[in-house]
Amino acid sequence: MKFDVPSIATLNDILPDEPLLMMGAGPVPIPHAVANANRIVINHLGDTMGAVVSQIKAMAGYIFQTSSPWVVGVAGPGSAAMEMAVANLVWQDTRVLSICNGFFSDRLAELASRVGANVTPMLIEKEKGIVEADLRDYIVRHKPEVITVVQGETSTTTYNDIELVGRIAKEYDCYLIVDAVCTLSTMPLKMDEWHIDAVITGGQKGLSSIPGVSLITFSEKAWQRINTREKPIVQWTLDATLATNFWHKESYHYTAPVSGLMALHEAMRLVCDETLNKRFARHLACSKALQQGIEGLGLSLYVNEQHRLNSVVGINLPDNLTAAQVCQHISHKYRVEIAGSFGPNIVRIGQMGEQCREHNLFRALHAFGSTFKDLGCKIDVPQGMAQLEAAIQNSKLA
Ligand SMILES: *Cc1c(COP(=O)(O)O)cnc(C)c1O
Repeated sequence: MKFDVPSIATLNDILPDEPLLMMGAGPVPIPHAVANANRIVINHLGDTMGAVVSQIKAMAGYIFQTSSPWVVGVAGPGSAAMEMAVANLVWQDTRVLSICNGFFSDRLAELASRVGANVTPMLIEKEKGIVEADLRDYIVRHKPEVITVVQGETSTTTYNDIELVGRIAKEYDCYLIVDAVCTLSTMPLKMDEWHIDAVITGGQKGLSSIPGVSLITFSEKAWQRINTREKPIVQWTLDATLATNFWHKESYHYTAPVSGLMALHEAMRLVCDETLNKRFARHLACSKALQQGIEGLGLSLYVNEQHRLNSVVGINLPDNLTAAQVCQHISHKYRVEIAGSFGPNIVRIGQMGEQCREHNLFRALHAFGSTFKDLGCKIDVPQGMAQLEAAIQNSKLA
């Protein structure tokens, strides 16, 4: 066998001259400070890296709203952080209740069952959300030690009330694992006040950093469970106690994703600069304005207002259109990217981090409405744009 040098185009040949506007379900556009930081490679051990890590941990306390020192990162996607949270707290025969209303909450259940846990899924109807009496009923019948739930189910654009789940988890003395990959810094999450034991996040969604570097925060109570487990976790790279070598002792676990941590540092610093309350208000105002604009076009939203996630908006498609048609057209003709879904016939527009900027909303909604018009639907683009503008003006008066 002879291996010839392949003929390779340069990245400049492959990349479009002007980047597409990423208004899908992640990754999202990143600020310049984040992009600049992502060029840096320094020694992953030593004083400079130590200072960066120590600031990331301090900012995590604010962003996750916790006084727990047990912040650790992982060189991996949000899914690796999910696996790290689950596999450290759950093992053979652990009874787990997984609150399921979409692709990512199902993934948490799958991760738990792969480490041998005894998993009970609790399926949530999108019209009803989590019903307190049902949750109590499941807990009484199955006696879970650990509960898993997703705050913002990106796949079905549904929001779960974590404060409610936290209150009940505490009452029955269950550990609570919350996936906040999509939602962290886009809407309130109070780790300590809501009695959460592990919060998972990724880089490329609410935080507007790069994909591939993720953070988890464990409560003191979770940390004790991890430290007193009988057998060490099988996945050596995901071992939270080993991760403290890097995250708490400036020493070696594996080579840290230096550039990604620099990017994450800058993304978190921008969250702190903005302050959480202002950031939540920006997300709420932008997402609601987008939703009103979409309804103004004459389209309907997938989830009712009570359970609707604002961080990613799901839009019903007319029967004669597929998500692939819509996504391809808006991308090719208008250079805006949105997302389809893994189940329902919807398309999704993200409202995470940098996606929630007025100029992005106007460009995205115009492209979105025009796409439906191009594809032969009866759509009122001027009315959609007018409702978007009116909603933005109203939010400024409020
Ligand atoms: C995107 C997402 C994940 C997975 O993140 P990856 O980086 O793709 O692994 C997990 N949970 C939620 C809620 C998400 O939105």
